Amino acid sequence: MEISVVRKRLKEMRADLDRTVGVLLGEHHLVRGGGADPGDAGANLTEADRNAASMQAAVAQRTEVLAALARIDDGSYGRCTDCGGPVPEPRLQARPATARCVACQAKRDRRR
Ligand SMILES: [Zn+2]
Repeated sequence: MEISVVRKRLKEMRADLDRTVGVLLGEHHLVRGGGADPGDAGANLTEADRNAASMQAAVAQRTEVLAALARIDDGSYGRCTDCGGPVPEPRLQARPATARCVACQAKRDRRR
């Protein structure tokens, strides 16, 4: 895959995530700012929790995308950040922001 294509895709992902975080932030304030009806308090809390979880996921993904763009700039893109080995092309195509080869990612997932 051409590095210019990867860069473009990552920048598109970053723009999408920025929008997602922006929308979630807006909703977050609405949910927190509301609460005039005490009967809705439970539902609002659940909504706020779900919202916070989606936002955390979006922010984490955005961090991954930014790190990938930085690796393109320093020339280390496509190498695993843990073992330094090459990340397989199909994996990069499926997830351009991925930082690790399959083995290192599996190790990391097990640790969680
Ligand atoms: Zn690795």
